[in-house]
Amino acid sequence: MMSDTVYDLIVVGSGAAGLAGAIKAGRNGKKVLLLEKLSQIATKLKATGGGRCNLSNTLDNTTFMQSFGKNGRFMTTAINKMDHNGLRDFFTSLDLETHIPDGFRIFPVTHSSTTVINALLQELKRLNIKILCDEKVEDILTKDNMVTHIKTQNNLYKTKNILLATGGMGYPKMGATGDGFTIVQKLGHKVTKLYPAMMPLSTKETWQGNCRADTISKVTIKVNIPNNNKLKKLTAKGDLIFTSTGLRGPVILDFAREITPFLDTYNEVPILVNLTHGKHEDEIIKIIKDKSIKEPNKNIIEILTFLIPKSLAQEFCKLCNIDSSINYKHINGESKNQLIKILAWTPFTISGHDGFNKAMITRGGISLKEIDPTTMQSKIIRGLYFAGEIVDIDGPCGGYNLQWSFSSGYLAGEIC
Ligand SMILES: Cc1cc2nc3c(=O)[nH]c(=O)nc-3n(C[C@H](O)[C@H](O)[C@H](O)COP(=O)(O)OP(=O)(O)OC[C@H]3O[C@@H](n4cnc5c(N)ncnc54)[C@H](O)[C@@H]3O)c2cc1C
Repeated sequence: MMSDTVYDLIVVGSGAAGLAGAIKAGRNGKKVLLLEKLSQIATKLKATGGGRCNLSNTLDNTTFMQSFGKNGRFMTTAINKMDHNGLRDFFTSLDLETHIPDGFRIFPVTHSSTTVINALLQELKRLNIKILCDEKVEDILTKDNMVTHIKTQNNLYKTKNILLATGGMGYPKMGATGDGFTIVQKLGHKVTKLYPAMMPLSTKETWQGNCRADTISKVTIKVNIPNNNKLKKLTAKGDLIFTSTGLRGPVILDFAREITPFLDTYNEVPILVNLTHGKHEDEIIKIIKDKSIKEPNKNIIEILTFLIPKSLAQEFCKLCNIDSSINYKHINGESKNQLIKILAWTPFTISGHDGFNKAMITRGGISLKEIDPTTMQSKIIRGLYFAGEIVDIDGPCGGYNLQWSFSSGYLAGEIC
């Protein structure tokens, strides 16, 4: 059905990016329509931060953008327009206060993503922005390289501008299934190669399945492919959790984002993991020797628990063929060396992942070369804007990706 109304802006997708854009345009007096293919708005936003919604973090703008890697500078205008302070002010204007409980990550004081969504929804209503759910966009129609209409499964809408904020490919049941990429490719836009990012990783090893109960803090991970300087630079630090098939936890989420493109090339990526709070071999030897002298009745497992959890100590002894009931001084030289090495750097081989189904973000997206970073407008089609995860920008874990989505949506909404 063709509607007679001509909208100033149609926003496609009701994630953080689309909602920020719709609200900003509505506040500027624009006639806005928001189209969402799921039966309710902001499904992914609801799941963020384990339902607590880690909105952003306190990094200064330069460091924040650097954390996104080589594409980070593209964000300059959007982040300068609405950085973490601006985002907090934005939510204050919606009567939702934020706070920084750990001094770094920014959350709503309610620690509830539902309150974030309700605040945004309230503002959409106040601004008389029409929201249509269960309305899947299939195509953007253009004339003379300018947007004219949006085509959904059953309807055709006339508009002067479009903000395409359909997200990436991760967690497809939350709505983002790559529709936006198909739509823009038909219009001549390039989409860079897409990789699942931020998800648990599988390993060839399975012994770590016996250590699932323990979270290991302050872990360091590095890639162990000799003669590959690009890969050698990849390191990550943070908390790690073992699974029966591999590794998960914040450090793995950040590391996965970097490693998935290389898994495509190498099939397997050997890594080394320091599970002893960054201790070197010399420090480890000293601790074990000192403790063994002070507490001569303790067996090797009991001594190792000064460095690592008991479950891990037991697995390390098995890996080094050490009888776990004996004292450190009775272990043969070869096994001792092996144990110290594995304590300093435990080897794993990353062998795969669960793909987009468990990927919290997507690496890759609409090529930045074809988007004006000062407006978020397409350089190919006039009146077509992008925001959020649909573009070739992805950041680490810790509020980076939501801040980018809100900021880019806000910038696009202000311009169009
Ligand atoms: C479980 C989980 C937890 C996360 N936690 C955090 C966190 O705490 N902090 C953080 O910074 N980041 C977090 N992220 C990442 C962050 O959620 C995303 O980067 C961000 O939400 C992307 O926002 P977006 O608006 O670009 O896309 P999305 O939120 O994915 O929104 C896109 C919307 O477009 C709709 N859509 C898609 N195709 C169509 C179509 N054809 N027609 C109409 N509508 C369509 C979708 O249904 C969806 O509602 C998390 C991600 C996940 C999966």
